Amino acid sequence: LADKVKKVAQLPAITKDGQAIELQLNAGLSSGFEYSKNSGAVGIGLYRTEIPFMNRSCFPSESEQTELYRQVLSAFPDQAVTMRTLDVGGDKSLPYFPINEDNPFLGWRGIRITLDHPEIFLLQVRAMLRANVGLNNLEIMLPMISSILEVDEATRLINQAYYELSGELDFIGEEKLTRPKIGIMIEVPGIIYQLPELANKVDFFSVGSNDLTQYLLAVDRNNARVSALYNSYHPAVLRALNHIAEQSARSLVPLSLCGELASEPAGALLLLAMGYDKLSMNAHNIAKIKWVIRHVDFHQVKMMLVHVLTLSTSKQVHSYLNEQLEQFG
Ligand code: PEP
Ligand code: MG
Repeated sequence: LADKVKKVAQLPAITKDGQAIELQLNAGLSSGFEYSKNSGAVGIGLYRTEIPFMNRSCFPSESEQTELYRQVLSAFPDQAVTMRTLDVGGDKSLPYFPINEDNPFLGWRGIRITLDHPEIFLLQVRAMLRANVGLNNLEIMLPMISSILEVDEATRLINQAYYELSGELDFIGEEKLTRPKIGIMIEVPGIIYQLPELANKVDFFSVGSNDLTQYLLAVDRNNARVSALYNSYHPAVLRALNHIAEQSARSLVPLSLCGELASEPAGALLLLAMGYDKLSMNAHNIAKIKWVIRHVDFHQVKMMLVHVLTLSTSKQVHSYLNEQLEQFG
């Protein structure tokens, strides 16, 4: 079976009856990049920029960042590479930027930090824009968005970086600076009630199901004591994910999901049925999920979803999904 699964990696993720979805890569560690190129992914759906910031003793300079981002963008020259702006705080800390808080997951995290430190944000965005010159496959994604104001402010700063760089033509030479698509992560539950307004402001949505689950259920994603309560198959989470898909489709906003749920067979099938356009996952899960998708009918998984959305407990959801997956073989 393992061999069969591997062979599938280079084939498209398409159901037996022709429904296609794109599988993308979650990346951030530069090691393993060669492998990633052969993983069968269509570009990068989540490049976690904070990871290369972590093993260091100070913030990387603009030119260091430019060089690093250039390597990542050039690894997929014809495919989109979605770079998330610095997402530290919560469980991710930088040794040279200590944060001490009682409730780090509800505190100074992600976009909140970079909007309070626009110099960090501007430098990072400048590096991304410079790295993108001549490649033009960059998309910028904003983490932990919880209000329209944050989107407006981040967009303003990205525009500022773009116009300032455009004025510094010497290093750009012949190639033109281009404006990347800008998207947001849907991972703070409150923002789910503002999707129609957000749709007018951004180019794409990407659901962070790891944080969305944690915040919807008020369960720390890293606390072993409550790990049994942390469950992305909780009916509340599944209904939220379905609602996000319906809203995005209505507003014609491209939608992806880049949390762990995408890399689980049952999760991937439910998301496919909900209408997610792209799923992003670690390199080693791509072949497995492709294999699963290529062995089902879309109308089958649609029916499975319709039933799942009527269930009241995660226990019911799990036993029903196990039954279904066995039937699919
Ligand atoms: C998420 O929250 O689901 C996500 C993809 O981002 P991270 O795990 O880096 O918080
Ligand atoms: Mg997250």
